Amino acid sequence: MVVWKLKGCPRCGGDVFIDREFDVWYAQCLQCSHRREVDAVAEPKKQPITAGTERSNPDR
Ligand SMILES: [Zn+2]
Repeated sequence: MVVWKLKGCPRCGGDVFIDREFDVWYAQCLQCSHRREVDAVAEPKKQPITAGTERSNPDR
């Protein structure tokens, strides 16, 4: 999944796309290849599954 930021480059004002490499999000400019790390933007929220807190009991 790639997020585009049109004219989002601080250096040349070019178009920037945001992509992920391993667990690091980065924004890279198409025009000048200026690249910087960004905070996670489009990552779906992952909540740790706490096992055992809510157990459905088969017995009724
Ligand atoms: Zn640029």
